Amino acid sequence: MSASITPSEPSREKILTRIGELRDLIARYNKAYFEHDEPEISDYDYDQLVRELSGLELDNPWAKSVHSPTQQVGSRPSELFPQVSHVVPMMSLDNAFDFDELKAWNSRLDRFLDPGQLVEYVCELKIDGLAISLVYEKGNYVRGATRGNGINGEDVTENIRLVDSIPKTIGSKKCPAPALLEVRGEIYMALSAFERLNEHQSRAGGKMFANPRNSAAGSLRQKDPQVTRDRELSFWTYQLGAHEGSPELGHHHEILDYFDSLGFPVNPNRAQVASIDEVIDFCEHWRENRHSLDYDIDGVVVKVDSLGLQSKMGATSRAPRWAIAFKLPPEERTTRLISIEVSIGRSGKATPFAVLEPVRVSGSLVSLATLHNEDQVKLKDVRPGDYVVVRKAGDVIPEVMRPVLERRSKGLRSWKFPARCPSCHGELFRFEGESDRYCTNSECPAQRVQRIAHFASKGAMEIDGLGEKRVVQLISEGRISDVGDLYALTQTSLEGLDGMGELSAANLISAIETSKTRPLFRLLVGLGIRHVGETGARQLADHFGSLELLMKAKEDDLSELDGIGRAIAQSVTSFFSSQSNKQLIERLIQAGVTAASDTQIRQTMANTTSQANTLTGKSVVVSGTLPGISRDQAHELIRARGGTPTGSVTKKTFALIIGQDPGDSKVTKATQLDIPVISGDRFLEFLDHPEVAL
Ligand code: NAD
Repeated sequence: MSASITPSEPSREKILTRIGELRDLIARYNKAYFEHDEPEISDYDYDQLVRELSGLELDNPWAKSVHSPTQQVGSRPSELFPQVSHVVPMMSLDNAFDFDELKAWNSRLDRFLDPGQLVEYVCELKIDGLAISLVYEKGNYVRGATRGNGINGEDVTENIRLVDSIPKTIGSKKCPAPALLEVRGEIYMALSAFERLNEHQSRAGGKMFANPRNSAAGSLRQKDPQVTRDRELSFWTYQLGAHEGSPELGHHHEILDYFDSLGFPVNPNRAQVASIDEVIDFCEHWRENRHSLDYDIDGVVVKVDSLGLQSKMGATSRAPRWAIAFKLPPEERTTRLISIEVSIGRSGKATPFAVLEPVRVSGSLVSLATLHNEDQVKLKDVRPGDYVVVRKAGDVIPEVMRPVLERRSKGLRSWKFPARCPSCHGELFRFEGESDRYCTNSECPAQRVQRIAHFASKGAMEIDGLGEKRVVQLISEGRISDVGDLYALTQTSLEGLDGMGELSAANLISAIETSKTRPLFRLLVGLGIRHVGETGARQLADHFGSLELLMKAKEDDLSELDGIGRAIAQSVTSFFSSQSNKQLIERLIQAGVTAASDTQIRQTMANTTSQANTLTGKSVVVSGTLPGISRDQAHELIRARGGTPTGSVTKKTFALIIGQDPGDSKVTKATQLDIPVISGDRFLEFLDHPEVAL
C-alpha cells in the first residue's frame, strides 16, 4: 500500500481555506505597506504569515498559484504616478531567518559549481528603506522609479531630482560615465532626520510617521515634489541594472567600487569574504552593532561575488538564487495592551508603562514596555485594550510604538495619568517646563527600592543576586534601609529569610564583598548622582583619580572638563555637599569600599604579578560570559599584560578564551585555524602563564 500524499477532501478544503485566508491577509498588508506606506502589522508578524503560506504551498503543490503573493514582488504601482516598465525586472530577495537557513541556502548553490570550485561572497547591510531604480544617460540623471511589482514601477523622476544625496550627474575624467547606466539602491531616512521630522510634525500638528522606513517611502511618493525636497532623504547604491558602454567587470564587489568612483554613495560597511563562516561573522557583527548606525537595517544581504556564477544560478519568479537576505531578529511585534501602570524611579520620577500580553521581541519575552511620560501616551494615543506595536529601543528597553487603529474596539477610553503615587499615595507633581511627573516624598518606599537596586545593578556595583525583589524583601524584613546597610549584612542575618538558604546567603554575602573593589566610576554610577551616567562617571574618575579629590572639586573646575557641562557640575557638587550623602560615603569607605580609579587598579594588577607583560604583541579573543568577570574587565586584564583584545578570530589570533554561550562561528574558526581555545575558568591562569595555550 502506498502512502497517499493527496489529502482527503475535508482536509483539502481546510488547507485551501487557510491558504485563501493567508493570501487575502497578505494582499491587504502588502497594499497598506507598499501602496499607503502605513503598515498594519509588524514586519515580523507579516513574515510569519508569508512563511506559513509558503510552507502550505510547498507541502501542497496542487494549491500553487501564480497569483499568490509568494510568487509576486511588492505590490502593483499606485495611480499616484505614471507607470514605467523596468528594462531589467526589479526582484525581491529570499530570506534566511537563522544561520541554519543561511547554510542551507549556501548548500543549494553547490549544484551550480564545478567540482572543487569555491564561492566568494559580498556581504552588505540590508537597508530598511525603499528600493528605487535610477537611470543615467551620458552621465546625466534622466529617470527615477520605484520597484512597484518588479515589472512596472512608479515614475518618481521629479521627486528624486529634489533629493540632495542623489547625484544628478556622474563620472569624472578618471572614471568617465557610460552611455547608459541604471543603478538600484535604497532610499532611506536617517534616524536623526526621522526624529527631526516627527518633532516638526508634532509642533505643526501634522501626521506622525510610524518608522523611518515608512516616512522615507511616504516622503518620496508625494504628489507635490516640493514636500520631498523638504524631507531629509538619503541613498545607498547596491545593484547594477541595465547598462551600455560601462567597463567589463567580473565581480559584484568591483561594481560597487565602480559606483563609488562614479560618485554614487555606496555603503562602506561591506565585505568580500571567502567562506560561509565569514558571512556568519559579518551577520553576527551587525546583529550586535546595528544600533551604532544612524539608519535602520533589517538584515544583511549576501550575494555571490562572481557575475559568471550569478548568471549560471539565475532566478526564480521573484528572487535571484545567488543572493539571500539574512533577516535580523524582529524588532517590532504586535500585541494587546492590557493596562497602563505607573512606576516610581529612584529620583521619584513617575513613568507610565504598558502591561502587555507577553510577546517575543528580539529574542526575549516582553510583557512590560515603557511609555516614557504623560505627553507620549497622549501623542501616541494608546489606550488600554488596544493592539499595539512594541519594539526594543537600542535592543534593551521595550517600547510601545503605536496603536493599531484598524484593530481598536469601539468605546476604548483614553488613559488618564493618576494623581497619586502608587507606592506612598503622595501627590504626583508636574513642574513647569517638565514633561515628567514626580513623587517628591524622599521616604517613598518605591524610590528607596529603586535606589538600592540601581546601586547593585550590572553597570554599577554589580552585586549578583540582589535584584529588585530581593531588595524589597530586605527592606520589608528590616535588614536594610539604604545602600550603606548592605555592607553590614552577615550570613546569619540573611539565613532564614524566605527563599534564602545557607548557600544563597553565602553567595549574596560574597557578591557584596566582591563589590567593594569595583572601580570608582562604578561607585559613582551606583550613587545615582543626577545626570551622571557611565561616560560622565568614567571621565570624573579618570580625571580626579580618587573620591576624596572629586568630593573637594569646585563647580567651576568640574564644568571645565571635557564633556562635563554646567548641569553635571552642579549636580555633582550639590550631591557631595549634602550632609546625608557625605555620611553615606563615609560609611561605605569604613565598610571597605575601595573606590579606586581604573589607573590605580591597573597599576596594582601589574605590580601583583611578576609577569606583567606576558601577552605583549599577542591578540586574544574573548567570547561568551566568563565566570565572575565582565567582558570589559577581561579586556582590561589582557591590555594590562600588554596584549590586544580583538573581536574576531583571524590567523593572527594567539588564543580564543571561551566562557558560557560563546559564538559558534568563532569556535569553529579557531579550530579550523588551529588556534588554541581556552576555557574561561582558566583565564586568570592563562594571563600569568599564556603557555597553557600552547
Ligand atoms: P525584502 O525587503 O525582504 O528584500 C528585498 C529588498 O531589500 C530589495 O527590494 C531592496 O529594497 C532591499 N535591500 C536593502 N538593502 C539591500 C542591498 N544591500 N542589496 C539588495 N537589496 C537590498 O523583500 P521585499 O519584497 O522588498 O519586502 C518584503 C518585506 O517587506 C517583508 O519581509 C517585510 O519585512 C516587509 N513588509 C512588511 C509588511 C507589513 O505589513 N509590516 C508588508 C509587506 C512587506
